[in-house]
Amino acid sequence: MSDHSNYRPLDAMAYPRFAGIRTFMRLPHVTDLMGVDMAVVGVPFDTGGTFRVGARFGPEGIRQHSMLLRPYHPEHPIDIFKQCAGVDYGDLPVTPGYLPESHAQIEAGARPLFAAGVIPIFLGGDHSVSLPLLRAAAATHGPVALIQFDSHGDLWHGYFGGKDTHGTPFRRAVEEGLLDTTRSSQVGLRGSVYDQADMAMSQELFHVVTAVELHEIGVKETIKRIRQRAGHGPVYLTFDIDFVDPAYAPGTGTPEVGGFNGAQCLQLVRGLAGLNFIGFDVVEVMPAYDPAHITSLLAANIVYEFMALIALQKQT
Ligand code: MN
Ligand code: MN
Repeated sequence: MSDHSNYRPLDAMAYPRFAGIRTFMRLPHVTDLMGVDMAVVGVPFDTGGTFRVGARFGPEGIRQHSMLLRPYHPEHPIDIFKQCAGVDYGDLPVTPGYLPESHAQIEAGARPLFAAGVIPIFLGGDHSVSLPLLRAAAATHGPVALIQFDSHGDLWHGYFGGKDTHGTPFRRAVEEGLLDTTRSSQVGLRGSVYDQADMAMSQELFHVVTAVELHEIGVKETIKRIRQRAGHGPVYLTFDIDFVDPAYAPGTGTPEVGGFNGAQCLQLVRGLAGLNFIGFDVVEVMPAYDPAHITSLLAANIVYEFMALIALQKQT
């Protein structure tokens, strides 16, 4: 635990929840990593999108709808900011329209966080940003286990003749040796595909729980399988918001029906307490497609669940 007396949300009894600058959960905006345990970091880049775009506004949307979150998590239970210091690090610099350049910027921007021993929670951005984030994670931690909640495997070899989109990050991550595939899981895969081999791409590389399987075996058994697979080594959790059913998260780039509700998402993340997390992201949130802001609100609550997992890790 660090000295974190200043690094906690604004006091809601002194400053109303709608007041203040829109940092995540009204945490202080801090870029000096001394004494920081966890940092929320925006990655406002969506040039990797292949269908709808607009995830560049994801960080802003998620921050805006985080302001009702309260510091005590009753289910674990834990008072998050008594266990760890949290800050909003701001957004990493990117160059819209220029994917390789932006990926280099994102990796360079994320490296100091991992190197400082901070556990970052990144707010995407399209899913292509997970590749430079995993490069940065592996630079400190070596190959990490990936726990991916997603409708899609994102394992394409390429797309439209290009190598990098939001449909390819984990193919590149495997090729580059960033992942310990023997400990990794993809959860929630579903929807129409191009041919019979598509699902096999995931199953050849990872432990897979498809959406149909998850509906059949339930949340508890799924958690058990992910945990068994992940073991004790470092874990990076990536949460593509299209894992959620579009009824609960319509504001995303490639929605797939037949997914999961908000309660199931929270239970799944909570059930992973105790794994050795070194980083998180939540990606593909698109406020422009998000009536009543329900997608951003759910994403903010998923980030809050990540924070509780970090607080539990820091609790000694
Ligand atoms: Mn997806
Ligand atoms: Mn994805």
